Amino acid sequence: MTTRRNFIKNTAFIAGSIPFMSLAETRTNSKIKGKPIVVSTWDFGKVANQEAWKILSSRGSALDAVEKGVMLVESDPTQMSVGLAGLPDRDGHPTLDACIMKGNGDCGSVVFLEHIMHPISVARGVMEKTPHVMLAGEGAQQFAINTLGMKKETIINPKSQEAYKEWLKKSEYAPIINIENHDTIGMIAMDANGLFAGACTTSGLAFKMHGRVGDSPIIGAGLFVDEDAGAVTSTGHGEEVIRIAGSHLVAELMRNGMSPEKACKTAVERVYKRKKDNIKNIQVGFIAISLEGEVGAYGVHKGFTYSVKTDSIDEIFQGKFLIE
Ligand code: ASP
Repeated sequence: MTTRRNFIKNTAFIAGSIPFMSLAETRTNSKIKGKPIVVSTWDFGKVANQEAWKILSSRGSALDAVEKGVMLVESDPTQMSVGLAGLPDRDGHPTLDACIMKGNGDCGSVVFLEHIMHPISVARGVMEKTPHVMLAGEGAQQFAINTLGMKKETIINPKSQEAYKEWLKKSEYAPIINIENHDTIGMIAMDANGLFAGACTTSGLAFKMHGRVGDSPIIGAGLFVDEDAGAVTSTGHGEEVIRIAGSHLVAELMRNGMSPEKACKTAVERVYKRKKDNIKNIQVGFIAISLEGEVGAYGVHKGFTYSVKTDSIDEIFQGKFLIE
């Protein structure tokens, strides 16, 4: 299995910039199409897709499918980058970010949430039960407990605890995002009725500053879904994705007729253009589904994987990339 850690090890940075014409390409994923269809970031997206597929294959809604799909990863006690078992911030707290969106523009988000097992369901609660789009920290937790009836919980993940102890030895304050220390599940789907939804959930950057929020819960950055454009989500260096309003950018490019793969590539190139002098420390990946149900994906570096499920496909793909 290609893990994020292996990706880092396999990523050979070639100093300086590489002209885009000569950039390496991996085996193609293009022209994968489906309806219903569900696509998720990384290898762990495969089991999450299978969970979502139980709903999609029985003509359930894309919204229910993406929520249930990512919940599987959120509650995985071995997971180090999503949910309460994820790597903590500098002060030892796992703080969680998530958002959910429908094709009609309805959306909800939670940021800096602690001790709640399913941030994605809190995000859905924000969307469905409040007049707001985003709740943060204490307020989000109170809403989860008081309105949604959730419990305060903690997961002890020995591996995350061990990694934190190791990190504490140096406690290096290095606000550069290191490609070893983050991961997110972003899931996008189109259901049998042609309706779109997406969900994105993460424990964010490991050992981040207490209170840091990345792209994953930011509508337009980590996720964007529009019934007139398609669905997009991202993973990687949240600050860079926010700076280009990444998922919204990809959706707008698709709205204007670009293929999902080309749109994801264009967004990745924009990250590259801004950060080319420090690109070895930057990984960003996008996945997208067009209105026709076609899948696209692109990453800055080799090693970005994503998972696709249709009635005939249940597979992990290597995303195309700009830099070997
Ligand atoms: N995008 C996430 C964040 O910046 C991390 C990741 O996807 O790896 O919090």
